[in-house]
Amino acid sequence: MSRAITAATLMAGVVGDPIRHSLSPVIHNAWIEAAGLDAVYVALPALPESFAGLVRGLSSGAALGVNVTIPHKEQAAAIADERSSAVVRAGAANLLIFRDGRVLADNTDGTGLLSALRAAGFEPLSPVVVLGAGGAARGAVQSLLAAGVPSVRLVNRSAERARAIAAADNRISALGWDDARHALDGVAAVINATSLGMTGQPPLELALDLAPPTAVVMDMVYRPLQTPFLGAAKARGHPTADGLSMLIAQARPSFEAFFGRPPPDVDVRSLCERALGEAG
Ligand code: NAP
Repeated sequence: MSRAITAATLMAGVVGDPIRHSLSPVIHNAWIEAAGLDAVYVALPALPESFAGLVRGLSSGAALGVNVTIPHKEQAAAIADERSSAVVRAGAANLLIFRDGRVLADNTDGTGLLSALRAAGFEPLSPVVVLGAGGAARGAVQSLLAAGVPSVRLVNRSAERARAIAAADNRISALGWDDARHALDGVAAVINATSLGMTGQPPLELALDLAPPTAVVMDMVYRPLQTPFLGAAKARGHPTADGLSMLIAQARPSFEAFFGRPPPDVDVRSLCERALGEAG
């Protein structure tokens, strides 16, 4: 980047742990540069015990706001002065905007998920299977229901975690892994929100033979970009959406919230693919 950083340069960033390999700086700095903004987007490491102090410091004028990632999304929702309805629904925030010393929490993960699904042809007219019951799955379930899907079939290794989420809404059913294949009958989409398939983790093994051919298959994992699960879905002819499409789609409303304008038209996907390739 050849831009000069001066005392007038505005700052936004992403807070997490670990954060060194985050793609968010790649995405936002490309948009900042193309938009000609005098701003910079940085990655800020923070342990859970120092997160609230860091946010307090940044919110007193040092930054426009921050994205928030693992493991701070729940804490971000808890410490905010104001929460959007998406944050209240998910119990987690991935975006904190600082305004007049106040911290406003939002959650653009759900918007990102839905945009990525819709770009692959998804319509919220039939049930959806969500695999996983962690933070990403919980957010996905809430945004799918808010978008109008009639029901969500939630499949998780630890049945307790899935049941706890299902208890809050009778449109959610909790299923064990053994039921996953049959749960695909008649779905509009199946979404992997577990860490299975991530580099260093076991692959996600789920036969898709009972899913309708039109079902959109999405994998939130983006390291690697092409997971064995997505490969199997493509081989069967399913429309697919990868984790990078969701990541870029959640970054768009974040950029707009920081800088008051939508991001310019830049091929950030290619930049991310290159960064993922270089990271190995
Ligand atoms: P998390 O809270 O740690 O949840 C992990 C989930 O994976 C749990 O449901 C866990 O099941 C399941 N799991 C882990 N290992 C498993 C195994 N060996 N067998 C079966 N299930 C297993 O993580 P998270 O924050 O929800 O994130 C989940 C994934 O989504 C990660 O890969 C993350 O990178 C990705 N993600 C992507 C985006 C994006 O923008 N693309 C955004 C958010 C998250 P148990 O409950 O049984 O432990």
